[in-house]
Amino acid sequence: MERRDALIIGAGPAGLAAAVYLARFRRKVLVLSDGPSRASWIPESHNTPGFPHGVGGKELLARLTAQARAFGVETRQARVDALVRRSDAFEIRGSDVAIEAPTVLLVTGVIDRLPDVPGVEAAVRRSLVRMCPICDAFEATGKRIAVLGDGGVAEREAAFLATYSDQVTVIPPGEGRLDFTEATVRWTPPGGQASQDFDNLYLALGCAAQAALAVDCGARRDDEGALVVDAHQMTSIDGLYAAGDVVRGINQIAVATGEAAIAATAMHNRLRQLAG
Ligand SMILES: Cc1cc2nc3c(=O)[nH]c(=O)nc-3n(C[C@H](O)[C@H](O)[C@H](O)COP(=O)(O)OP(=O)(O)OC[C@H]3O[C@@H](n4cnc5c(N)ncnc54)[C@H](O)[C@@H]3O)c2cc1C
Repeated sequence: MERRDALIIGAGPAGLAAAVYLARFRRKVLVLSDGPSRASWIPESHNTPGFPHGVGGKELLARLTAQARAFGVETRQARVDALVRRSDAFEIRGSDVAIEAPTVLLVTGVIDRLPDVPGVEAAVRRSLVRMCPICDAFEATGKRIAVLGDGGVAEREAAFLATYSDQVTVIPPGEGRLDFTEATVRWTPPGGQASQDFDNLYLALGCAAQAALAVDCGARRDDEGALVVDAHQMTSIDGLYAAGDVVRGINQIAVATGEAAIAATAMHNRLRQLAG
């Protein structure tokens, strides 16, 4: 079985930022990832620090990957299916990988719930449909906004958006019909009459934390399924750290990279103590 100082599961902003820190602490670190980061959906982010003219998600990921490679970080395309805690290390198993390490960082993110409407993914990629008012409500200032969702989540999101526009309408999921044109979302209520057009549709349908690997090890999560961590980003399992969207908190790039820096530093200090 291969051995590393630290294993990072996930290659989004949190995983890549942590990899840079650990490599610069001169640790043998391996990043495993089975697919695209959530950030690859971002058409253009205007709240990511250091990019005054905005940055696309793919461009940001390419920069983070280049930075990690510049410090010798090894990245591998592989799905991790199991994480097992042994007395002195964690063992991970997945597609063509079997590796052990005394510290593991889980940065597996979340999966967004999308409505079952043709063309919704393409509409996200052109900023017509949006996931996150914290990210991009500024760019919807004064526009006709719809919020798709029900209950308290949709009401809270609509109230947040009401500080940007006085034309905010909550529409219930599964009722009526949604159609996307190049620049407009059209909602036709049940009965087929009096369609309404919007400039943006925000989804308030929630997301699912990809926390199963940690939960199967016995890690604690909150009521919404996100992992609970301490001030050093360690889960309730000794030596298992988590950062980014999979952890309770606001799902933002700046938060993901900040948490990654804290986790990587704690992992390095733990490795020093174990060697000590
Ligand atoms: C449309 C959209 C717009 C957004 N706009 C902004 C914005 O403007 N500003 C902002 O701050 N944030 C924005 N966000 C949020 C931002 O994308 C996330 O906060 C950020 O990507 C979280 O990073 P992460 O590293 O925690 O997780 P992710 O980026 O989701 O990365 C998770 C990684 O884990 C991997 N993975 C999962 N399970 C496994 C497994 N079992 N084995 C191996 N690999 C696994 C995935 O393949 C992926 O590579 C936006 C999100 C969306 C969807």
